[in-house]
Amino acid sequence: MASLFHMDIQTLKGVGEKRAALFRKIGAPTVGALLRLYPRVYEDWSQPVPIDQAILGEVAVIQATVLARPREQRIRKGMTLYKTEVTDGKRDMTLTYFNNPYVQTMLREGETYLFRGKVQGNFTRREMTAPEFAPAQGAAPVVPVFPQTEGLTSRQIGNAVKAAFALLPEILRDPLPPEMRQKYALCELRFALENIHFPGSMELLDIARRRLVFEELLVLQLGLLSLKSRARVENKLRLTRDDSEGFFRLLPFTPTGAQRRAVRECLRDMMGDSPMNRLIQGDVGSGKTAVAAALCYCVIQDGMQAALMAPTEVLARQHHKTLSALLEPAGIRTALLVGSMTPKQKREAVEGLASGEFQLAVGTHALLTDGVAFRKLGLVITDEQHRFGVAQRAALAQKGENPHLLVMSATPIPRTLALMIFGDLDISVLDELPPGRQKIETFAITSDKRQRAFGYIRKHLDRGLQGYIICPLVEEGQSDMASVAQYRAMLEKGPFAGYRIGSLHGRMKPREKDAVMAAFSAGELDLLVSTTVVEVGVDVPNAVMILIENAERYGLSQLHQLRGRVGRGQEKSTCILVSDAQNEEALARLRVMCQTTDGFRIADEDLKLRGPGDFFGSRQHGLPQLSIADMAQDVALLHDAQEEARELLRRDPELAAQDHRGLRGEVRQLFEKAGEGAFT
Ligand code: ADP
Ligand code: MG
Repeated sequence: MASLFHMDIQTLKGVGEKRAALFRKIGAPTVGALLRLYPRVYEDWSQPVPIDQAILGEVAVIQATVLARPREQRIRKGMTLYKTEVTDGKRDMTLTYFNNPYVQTMLREGETYLFRGKVQGNFTRREMTAPEFAPAQGAAPVVPVFPQTEGLTSRQIGNAVKAAFALLPEILRDPLPPEMRQKYALCELRFALENIHFPGSMELLDIARRRLVFEELLVLQLGLLSLKSRARVENKLRLTRDDSEGFFRLLPFTPTGAQRRAVRECLRDMMGDSPMNRLIQGDVGSGKTAVAAALCYCVIQDGMQAALMAPTEVLARQHHKTLSALLEPAGIRTALLVGSMTPKQKREAVEGLASGEFQLAVGTHALLTDGVAFRKLGLVITDEQHRFGVAQRAALAQKGENPHLLVMSATPIPRTLALMIFGDLDISVLDELPPGRQKIETFAITSDKRQRAFGYIRKHLDRGLQGYIICPLVEEGQSDMASVAQYRAMLEKGPFAGYRIGSLHGRMKPREKDAVMAAFSAGELDLLVSTTVVEVGVDVPNAVMILIENAERYGLSQLHQLRGRVGRGQEKSTCILVSDAQNEEALARLRVMCQTTDGFRIADEDLKLRGPGDFFGSRQHGLPQLSIADMAQDVALLHDAQEEARELLRRDPELAAQDHRGLRGEVRQLFEKAGEGAFT
């Protein structure tokens, strides 16, 4: 059975070398993978409608009898029409096919078929052009549409799936133990696989889907939880004392209650029996950097080293600057390690970290490269973690002896989702903004008011404040460099002539971006024109204006992140969303932005408006890809699966029991798919 699942796709009847390559391309290199490649959509052929009830302009399925053999009609060279009439007993309909002589033999006079196609014509005359058809007797009630690719049609994939089923034994070993299936009323594996591919009806499709979703979520939860339990190793880098008060005295401000609480929770973890594995969720501007710095300070005072990893060079350099300024008075030396440094600079950093001369390392994923070793690495922090997946967390944990791990996320996500994605982490929430923050006022305007908005921004720049403009998204075929340049030229010539303008775009080298950010930070620029590269983490408290062009093109979370670039100081800040969008969903998003600045509420609304598919679709979470579960629809099943996973691991942590081996195999496969070699 297991071997059958691993069988190369080419062993299937009808799959030769060429076709096998296409199957590999769509993610089905083996027979097993093919059986787990589910159709994308389904066509319901089970409920044909009478011709006079079919809606003009829409796709319908109609059951009708052919009145005459299709007539051939040559209309010009290379173009032949085949026309026939069909009837459902009450009304007739005309069918037309192009260059398809086969219909003359396939559509027989007097026989009844199901036809599926777009209904055309007018009120007195109904037509379909080239509808698909199948004999009414024995037609499949539901037709699957597989994720086809160039050169491989849905039908061909379907045939291969049928060939695969023919090889399977009648009874499949089911990874879900019988008691579990009974408890949650889940069907058996073979039944599920058959009905997900070739549903006997829409109801059976639901039953099959439910079981497969449960299984997928269960396996994912098992994977995440076992990751967590594996992290429950001995704490060899136990923190011996709490030096946070010493750190707080270094801060130019008083920490918020939430910051203190988060620091306390982390210190408690690090003093505990196993290494810390914690996520800090904090809205933009909630002061995550200070929490990170406090922990670095404590770990370093206790004789260990710490590393902070950021997703971009701009951010890494910013953190390096902030942290070294803050910690240097305490005698802590901070090394920077980013890709664009010269070999000599890198070597100095690497050597200094190995010798312990530097106690703190700040960098990008360059920190993860093999050449980097520490004398005694106690704590690893990743900032804006959504770009770091589970795999990277694992790679990091392997540097040094299971260092404490802290992940900081500025993407507030609802608790259910957080549990789902960060099942292996404990969670702290920074739910309080530093005092004195002014609410960011947000307006949505149409483009005819743009000049007025520019005037409003100018008034603030004239007072020595600064602003961002997020310029229109790139048009098809235009580079973002060109689009930024063009937009900037427009500003320089007109509304912002005489102001100091800088610009950022994705094509710039990190060092160039950095120079611009540094100049903006230092107040040498009034206005920064940028694409969304400025989105994450950048902190310039004197910037109080942000105008976002084409605001309808961004998701709520992204708008929230962009807006979070302002409102970081004592001055009142303004966010202006420019959009001429008419569609209801876009307008709803803009409304939410104007109503609230609470990241958690925005995340909730985002989920309601678009569903978490978007969040999961973006693959920023670092989870393995789900093939059938949809977090919007399947929240209830997620809860069940989570509960069941916990219970299972409590009884059988290694999933070693005979009944659990199937699940263990699937967990391994799931992480293999995600490049998780470390967890086999
Ligand atoms: P984020 O959570 O978005 O990473 P930062 O750590 O960049 O937020 O902090 C945002 C700004 O707030 C910074 O300028 C920081 O110096 C300031 N800040 C952080 N904590 C406090 C506090 N307790 N009181 C006043 N200002 C603070
Ligand atoms: Mg930050």
